[in-house]
Amino acid sequence: MKPFAYQRAKDVESAVATVAVRPEASFLGGGTNLVDLMKMEVLKPELLVDVRHLVSRTIEPAHGGGLLIGAGMSNNELAADRRIRRRYPMLSQALLSGASYQLRNLATVGGNFLQRTRCPYFRDVTMPCNKREPGTGCAARDGVQRDLAVLGADASCVATHPSDMAVAMAALDAVLHTVGPSGERTIPVNELYRSPAEGPQRDTVLERGELITAVELPAAPVAAHSRYRKVRDRASYAFALVSVAAALEVRHGSVTQVRLALGGVAHKPWRATTAERALVGRPATEAGFRAAAEAELAAARPLAGNAFKVPLARNTIVSMLRDLTEGA
Ligand SMILES: Cc1cc2nc3c(=O)[nH]c(=O)nc-3n(C[C@H](O)[C@H](O)[C@H](O)COP(=O)(O)OP(=O)(O)OC[C@H]3O[C@@H](n4cnc5c(N)ncnc54)[C@H](O)[C@@H]3O)c2cc1C
Ligand code: SF4
Repeated sequence: MKPFAYQRAKDVESAVATVAVRPEASFLGGGTNLVDLMKMEVLKPELLVDVRHLVSRTIEPAHGGGLLIGAGMSNNELAADRRIRRRYPMLSQALLSGASYQLRNLATVGGNFLQRTRCPYFRDVTMPCNKREPGTGCAARDGVQRDLAVLGADASCVATHPSDMAVAMAALDAVLHTVGPSGERTIPVNELYRSPAEGPQRDTVLERGELITAVELPAAPVAAHSRYRKVRDRASYAFALVSVAAALEVRHGSVTQVRLALGGVAHKPWRATTAERALVGRPATEAGFRAAAEAELAAARPLAGNAFKVPLARNTIVSMLRDLTEGA
């Protein structure tokens, strides 16, 4: 690991001002991703600006009946909160499916959104990787393809986004609150992640020095009837091959509201809007769920080594919606 300096910023403004003008500086949350990557010399910041004490660790009521979650909350604190478990169970389940108890105690909500891909070639500095070193190529395309994306990928990068929490946040239409060098703004989670076609080296639309301070969950009564399911190679302590966050409301046998997002299949949490449109107003039947899943996955462009993800995603969507219908 390269030597680095550590700074405990005194307030949000000075943290933002420091990181905005120093390309070699990074914010530090729980450090569970950043410090890992520093040890491997994938990332080599010279200055870490600790922001954990600057951003809130509480949940407050938001306008319109939603909740405002402080970006400094740990993943375990958020998962355990009674309001989250009752009103947004998919979010609590997604958080608890990630990492380990100890890691979730350290990992922050802000850092979770910005964790980097687990593509093994990104994490191996001896391999070509356009995300780590633009223009060097992509070792994954001709390498081990099991974990790669099937949706939204580009020839330059086929990596997936690893966060479970972000998948539930995408399904719930969560909105980030940030403070950057140009002031405060809000960014819907569904607009946070950039397409690899825009340049895989930059994962998100955040500007240099832009700090996530909170995440707003809009009120969504349908979310009380929701679940998160993660399919992976090991039952715990493994990233998703495919995951599904789903919420469903069925009245008189027809779908009246649905939220659906997929993880492990794209460079971002994949909001399945095509499937949602195909479901609303139609009978809540297994055939309908299958047709909707297939409509969403028609855009999939798998490689030889990850083609299994397409039927896996379809079957997981169908079984989730069936289970939610039976529980309705
Ligand atoms: C062994 C292992 C297994 C794991 N398994 C899973 C899993 O199954 N599912 C899953 O979803 N995750 C998993 N994780 C990843 C874990 O969830 C992330 O490492 C964690 O959420 C990152 O949060 P952090 O606070 O530690 O971020 P850090 O490592 O501190 O930071 C990550 C990035 O976010 C930036 N950052 C941090 N806070 C802010 C902020 N407030 N505003 C702007 N930028 C900020 C940092 O500069 C850095 O670029 C695993 C991690 C490990 C080590
Ligand atoms: S898939 Fe993306 S992250 Fe992985 S090696 Fe290729 S360019 Fe790098």
